[in-house]
Amino acid sequence: MTDNAARVIGRMFSDISIAIDAHKDHLTALDGAIGDADHGITMSLGFNAVTNELAGMDLDHVAASAVLASAAAAFLNAVGASTGPLYASAFLQAAKVLEKSETLSLENHVEMIVAMTAGIQERGKGQRGDKTMLDAWIPATEAAIKAQNDGADVRVLWNEVIHAAEAGANATRSMVAARGRAARLGERSLGHVDPGAASAVIILRAMKNRLDFS
Ligand SMILES: [Mg+2]
Repeated sequence: MTDNAARVIGRMFSDISIAIDAHKDHLTALDGAIGDADHGITMSLGFNAVTNELAGMDLDHVAASAVLASAAAAFLNAVGASTGPLYASAFLQAAKVLEKSETLSLENHVEMIVAMTAGIQERGKGQRGDKTMLDAWIPATEAAIKAQNDGADVRVLWNEVIHAAEAGANATRSMVAARGRAARLGERSLGHVDPGAASAVIILRAMKNRLDFS
């Protein structure tokens, strides 16, 4: 039996929260090198708020889009600055594309990745090469679309997505930050992986582990 989309999305957020918590200190250390050393803490707070919010929902009787919209509100409420509005916008865009989905198809997976990246990009006005989370999200999205066009199955598609996100995050090491607090460092931001790109990989990996079995 295929699980309903709301339940799958609910479990996906719980998986993301666990994964972020497991990497919290690492993310904070990355942010310590080029920012204000709070990225692990804020991401953990945000996703814990999401899972608390979703725990109060009856996932058998709500739409996946309602789960994503609630996640957006909870994340934004918990993380006011920087990352908060970006992921809130990502989840809201994903809510829109899943409005009519009762179960999740591979096409929905791709639509969700595309929508999340569009939400982050619209809200942050960022581009590839700025040394931000988009340096993981944009290549991940391109890989998803390409794999879909190539007729890849769910496992192959997600492997391509993760591979592209990881390569994108690693590439931020040789970028000079153009946005956010790290931009004040200029050339001194060179040599460090962007914490937002690193957490994007963790999020996508948790999504993969949940969705490629659903
Ligand atoms: Mg920070």
